[in-house]
Amino acid sequence: MPYHNLSSSMTPTCACCAPAPLRSGLGVNRRGFLNLGAAGVAGAALASMAPGKSFAASGNYEAMLVNCIDPRFTTLSWQYMGLIQGVSREKLEDNYSHFVMAGGPIGAVHPKFAAWHATYWDNLDVTVSLHHIKRVIGISHRDCGAAKLAFGADAVSDKDKETEAHSEALSMFRKEVNKRQPKLSVITGIMNTNGRVDLIG
Ligand SMILES: [Zn+2]
Repeated sequence: MPYHNLSSSMTPTCACCAPAPLRSGLGVNRRGFLNLGAAGVAGAALASMAPGKSFAASGNYEAMLVNCIDPRFTTLSWQYMGLIQGVSREKLEDNYSHFVMAGGPIGAVHPKFAAWHATYWDNLDVTVSLHHIKRVIGISHRDCGAAKLAFGADAVSDKDKETEAHSEALSMFRKEVNKRQPKLSVITGIMNTNGRVDLIG
């Protein structure tokens, strides 16, 4: 079956969804992917620690989060997603895809990062096809180095200017999601360095 066929009956072909024997041990599996020995062992250990929840590679999940690679926001974004509800009022914990790129939603639309755009939108298509998500949550953040690269440092030199510049990109992000995946709802916002999110749009 072709790699790009995303029908629900397909056997998952991505490394993360491959059966355990393909993930553990050293060497190259039959699809040519390098197996990471230590990572495979760690993955097996984590799997054995997981609570009695059944995880499926495809199915019905709630959302996709796209945010920035900035290390200060890893825990804050995880905490934020634990606080909010999905479209069907389900908790979002272990219920959303997470796409991380510099600038988050800004990286997905700003011309400065044009080479990344297709990767993001292709991944959105994949999570819609595989996970049947209902919502996209695009969160940029204050004091973002990627936003400074995109807009110029002067354009984000105070909070009001930063809000204005981010809002323009977040609006563009919303429009792109609406155009490409009109059934999805979209939440956009700017995360402050304390984790609070200013919703935009
Ligand atoms: Zn950033």
